[in-house]
Amino acid sequence: RLNATTAVNNFRATNKPLNFMDEKPTDLFGCNVFNDKVMKERLPKNVYKSLKRTIDMGDKMDPSIADTVASAMKDWAVSKGATHYTHVFYPLTGLTAEKHDGFLVPDGKGGALAEFSGKLLIQGEPDASSFPSGGLRTTFEARGYTCWDVTNPAYILENPNGTTLCIPTAFVSWTGEALDKKTPLLRSQQALNKQAQRVLKFFGKASDERVVSFCGPEQEYFLVDRNFVLNRPDLQICGRTLFGAPSAKGQEMEDHYFGAIPPRVLSFMMEVERELYKLGVPVKTRHNEVAPGQFEIAPIFETSNLATDHNQMVMTTLKEVALRYGMVCLLHEKPFAGINGSGKHVNYSVGNATLGSLFDPGDTPHENMQFLVFCAAAIRAVHKYGALLRATVASASNDHRLGANEAPPAIMSVYLGEQLTDIFEQLKKGGAKSSKTKGDLRVGVDTLPPLPMDAGDRNRTSPFAFTGNRFEFRAVGSNMSIAGPQVALNSMLSESLDYIATSLENCVKPDLSNLNECVSKLLQDIVKKHEAVVFNGDGYSEAWHKEAVEKHGLENLRTTPEALPVLARKEVKDLFVKYEVFTERELDSRQNIYLEQYVKTVMTEAQLVIRMARTMIFPGAVRYQNELAETCANLRAIGKDCVMTSLDDLTAKLRGLQKAANDLEELLGQHFDDLQAEATFLCEKVLPKMLEVRSFADALEVVVADDLWNLPTYQEMLFIK
Ligand code: ADP
Ligand code: MG
Repeated sequence: RLNATTAVNNFRATNKPLNFMDEKPTDLFGCNVFNDKVMKERLPKNVYKSLKRTIDMGDKMDPSIADTVASAMKDWAVSKGATHYTHVFYPLTGLTAEKHDGFLVPDGKGGALAEFSGKLLIQGEPDASSFPSGGLRTTFEARGYTCWDVTNPAYILENPNGTTLCIPTAFVSWTGEALDKKTPLLRSQQALNKQAQRVLKFFGKASDERVVSFCGPEQEYFLVDRNFVLNRPDLQICGRTLFGAPSAKGQEMEDHYFGAIPPRVLSFMMEVERELYKLGVPVKTRHNEVAPGQFEIAPIFETSNLATDHNQMVMTTLKEVALRYGMVCLLHEKPFAGINGSGKHVNYSVGNATLGSLFDPGDTPHENMQFLVFCAAAIRAVHKYGALLRATVASASNDHRLGANEAPPAIMSVYLGEQLTDIFEQLKKGGAKSSKTKGDLRVGVDTLPPLPMDAGDRNRTSPFAFTGNRFEFRAVGSNMSIAGPQVALNSMLSESLDYIATSLENCVKPDLSNLNECVSKLLQDIVKKHEAVVFNGDGYSEAWHKEAVEKHGLENLRTTPEALPVLARKEVKDLFVKYEVFTERELDSRQNIYLEQYVKTVMTEAQLVIRMARTMIFPGAVRYQNELAETCANLRAIGKDCVMTSLDDLTAKLRGLQKAANDLEELLGQHFDDLQAEATFLCEKVLPKMLEVRSFADALEVVVADDLWNLPTYQEMLFIK
């Protein structure tokens, strides 16, 4: 451990400094992307147009253009040094997967040609048998196909030794069932568009231009010097510390948040941004976060599909570039106990280029009516499907963060801010005539005056907060794919918009003369039924947890084993099946896979707790015990008294550690046939026992001689320089 500290001290970056003067960021941006500009240059006009219609309007893809596109893509990639291509896909592990194939094909005359056909572009067949399928595939039908996602651009991934053409794809079984995160997202976008258009029709805004969801994910992460990580099996294997006494200084001074960024970290950030610029990821903000060693990166929002792929690239790039600077990037939701964990705020809105965000209050009464309808749809959706939303962010690692007074509680509520809350209050009474905040603000719907952009203060404790022109879903974990939450949001919202459209279709006369009346009545109904989900107070407070459940009937699903069964509820199945986002089988498979992931994660951690307790913590402490005992013996040998309370104390802690580790081992010996029962057991019995082992270890850490302690400490790891 002390060698690690020396190594940290001796670290010098070896890479060439970046130079943004000769290499302009504006030129860099998107230079490795097969983007609109490249397509326009390299594709025949009719092919380009056909492709654009699919990308922009969601038109059916025409497979006959694939050969031409493939050939242009290959030439472009080869001109950038590519030797291989890969279909990139997003299996249910939440990670990014790729299988590389070479362009080179022997020409039969002893030479070779670079080849890439439309068939290879459109479809790939990775050996899918090792990806989780949750019962969708048995090994004898292990086929899985990757299928070109035309709507996201192909790109080049650089490596010092060459480059690879990457093609975003969906991943499906040979029966067409979704095995990935992307397919359901695309399906949910389709559903959303359909229902949104039905509603927009009443406001004269329906069009061929698809309504999509947008997302701007704020990504939090920790940086730790790699020398320390190499000495922490827990960080290496689990991504979080299973042991560690608090540092004398934690985050209580609040001196890290938005503070000056340490030079090594800033260098790292710049290189991350440079890599991401090249890939066309519009990264925008960087800053220190609340916990020491914690930082954030956020891009400008994009359509959900693109934002989701880009967020995966952000995570991969963060990890990779950190190594170049002698650091490890931790994306785990709770790498260190006692200080803040990392989340991912998913800023979410729906709309399109022409309409902007449909959650934007706008500045004309007519648009405000439209806004109120979409906003009410969101409120209704979160009230009806809050438990589902909660289930989409359930994971073993996120459990350590949600509800821990640093992240929103597991109770899903909506923050509207004072102004909007007031307006909805008035709508409830049937379309009020004035607002309490602004003298004569009229909210009789058609006469609604402009709403200020900043409709309220910020509230950091709400899981789902209205922030001016979007909602911010804050319960998502830093490590997760953002696809799941967005699939749920799109589907829930589709259901609400469907409800609204149907109700208006039944009420509004063909000449729209009674539109205002119908909307008023509908909004009044929705507010009455669903206002229980609106909460503007302190989401961290005990009082709210009690009130939410007892008074408002909201659910508090604290842990993953409690939250995942939601996916099997009838209303959830009905929702996804109706809007053709998941089949029942696909949904079951998800529940299975996520439960299995939970079980595997906790099991791995528990086994490592035992291993580390016995092989790293116990030996160090015993050596110290021995030193103390020897001292005592020596003292007695020269006729001095020896009353050594520290020795007794140490011995008691060592016994406690041993016993707790043995107990934990015994717990792990239990066998289960049922995944759900196993997950619940791990959650209720094993996790607390792991904490018990830890409590003895952490107590030892603060008494054992520093030079005998094997594990890098919180203090060493957290204050990265
Ligand atoms: P803060 O930390 O103050 O919440 P940031 O600027 O870090 O805000 O991040 C806000 C994110 O929200 C950015 O990714 C931004 O692009 C995104 N965003 C802004 N407007 C919208 C919108 N209409 N829909 C979705 N995301 C949006
Ligand atoms: Mg935010």
